[in-house]
Amino acid sequence: MAQAKIITPGATIGILGGGQLGRMTALAAAQLGYKTHIFCSAADEPALDVTAHRTLAQFDDVDALRQFAQSVDVVTLEWENVPAVALETVAKYAPLHPGASVMAIAQDRQKEKDFARSVGIGTTRYKIVQSAAELAEALKKIPAPAFLKTTRMGYDGKGQIKITPDMDAEQAWAEFGNPLGILEARVDFACEVSVIVARNAQGDMAAYPVVENRHKNQILDETHAPAAIDAEISAEAVATARHMAAQLGVIGLLAVELFVLREPNGEGQSVLLNEIAPRPHNSGHWTMDACAVSQFEQLVRAVCGLPLGSTEPHSAAVMKNLIGNDALQWQQYLSDRSACLHLYGKRDVRDGRKMGHVNSLKGPWPRAD
Ligand code: AMP
Repeated sequence: MAQAKIITPGATIGILGGGQLGRMTALAAAQLGYKTHIFCSAADEPALDVTAHRTLAQFDDVDALRQFAQSVDVVTLEWENVPAVALETVAKYAPLHPGASVMAIAQDRQKEKDFARSVGIGTTRYKIVQSAAELAEALKKIPAPAFLKTTRMGYDGKGQIKITPDMDAEQAWAEFGNPLGILEARVDFACEVSVIVARNAQGDMAAYPVVENRHKNQILDETHAPAAIDAEISAEAVATARHMAAQLGVIGLLAVELFVLREPNGEGQSVLLNEIAPRPHNSGHWTMDACAVSQFEQLVRAVCGLPLGSTEPHSAAVMKNLIGNDALQWQQYLSDRSACLHLYGKRDVRDGRKMGHVNSLKGPWPRAD
């Protein structure tokens, strides 16, 4: 492998996107002596409070993207749906990690699943549909209960409906209301878990332990670290995530969300890939207080070609998202000695909006020996 360029402390890291993930990446970058330049479209985005440089422009403003890329040493991103034109423009003028080809796969549920299967990773059964008639046909092979999702731009359960056995295809298609969908067989899972892998340009990888994710209203509510699953299943989940990161050639972070099956499937797999995100992930926020090196610092190390840090936790932890009005309870968390409070500085409290999170430390990390 070619010698990767090392971007040394003092350099400037460009970040596409100005949300809380960008904010926490910028804070981790500052800790290692880097400056950041945030590219985002709104003046009140949380990352802008903590960055030396900013560009406020739309993601199709090619001139602004070029100037941004020319002013930094490397570019990463915190928003998964950065348009292809923005990625291509930036990549002409600066190293972009993760690259446009990884993003193209991660932005599309069909490509994601096709890719996973092509490298031997299990997914639920799925079929692309473009009309009520195609949906009716697909439901013969993948019967309800099932999920119908947009292939692109879905998050936190948006852009998807559950198809129940009492619905007919016409009714489901009308409710879905999109011209293109992916029908997915429902997985009867024991739990949902995720693994975050860091990978640098040298091909070194470091994976955090498997954590369990619990959702409320389809938004992540709590992450429990470690996940209470058998050691073999845990090893399979980590191996799956590492394999996916290596096969994609990700430089940066890859979060891999997996369903843990109640019983192994016909291929002997105990986990199925749900989706991937090549960026810091909400289910990795616990690492900020329970590990020596957080996911955010790991991202900075990876994109700058530095050695990756330890992913070994010192504490078990539960991360709770503060969504909407939950954040008004901040005083209560300040007086809890096991709680580490993180607020994102968002002015407007809105239902379903992620305002912050709390990491509660739960004693020493359980050791196998
Ligand atoms: P997604 O945005 O695709 O991750 O879906 C949001 C949540 O809906 C997941 O975390 C699961 O709880 C549930 N879900 C989505 N797809 C499936 C599926 N094929 N089988 C079972 N549950 C699913």
